[in-house]
Amino acid sequence: MRLLVVEDEEDLVDALRVGLVRAGYAVDVAFDAPTAHEKLEVNSYDLVLLDLNLPGGDGFQLCRTARAGGSGVRIIMVTARDRLDDRVRGLDEGADDYLVKPFAFPELLARVRALLRRDTGGTSVLEVGELRLDTARMEVSLGGRSLALTPKEYGVLHYLMTRPGHVVSSEELLEHVWDEHTDPFTHTVRVTVGNLRRKLQTEGLIETVISRGYRLKEPA
Ligand code: CA
Repeated sequence: MRLLVVEDEEDLVDALRVGLVRAGYAVDVAFDAPTAHEKLEVNSYDLVLLDLNLPGGDGFQLCRTARAGGSGVRIIMVTARDRLDDRVRGLDEGADDYLVKPFAFPELLARVRALLRRDTGGTSVLEVGELRLDTARMEVSLGGRSLALTPKEYGVLHYLMTRPGHVVSSEELLEHVWDEHTDPFTHTVRVTVGNLRRKLQTEGLIETVISRGYRLKEPA
């Protein structure tokens, strides 16, 4: 899953980036409102962490513009403002959740997971056939055998498991599992899928659909 962190405090951005990448997310950063606006237009994010007081604009405005443009991206407003009317306004402008600084990182992570699992029917454990992926613990097993995956392998498998039986293109995987610094002509998706297949040790579980992408086989 790919997140956009919109925040102008560099120390906080560094801390968030380290923690989120460790938790298996791809992270892009915008330090001001115009950059955030541009990135939201160009990339498809799964979730946005949005500060309210930003250079060049504010989070309320960004949120309103995104919603007016039809974006259904999950948004968590993160801000030092803790006044009730700001929280109400944030939610009314289209934010899904609201977190007041200073916050504990585990709580932020839990809120991110809670919002992202709305896409999978509210469950934090995904199961496809013998495959089991626990998003809260970042644990993956196949037929009871636990698998040690890198964050990217985990990200690819997680994305495929939310769409079993559907063809997912390399571009889509690149868009949701890697960050903006990845060369779009790289072989990294193919290499990561190859490594993942080796670890799964199950022939054909991730099928290649020629010139279209990859498909996680649904159980018979
Ligand atoms: Ca700020």
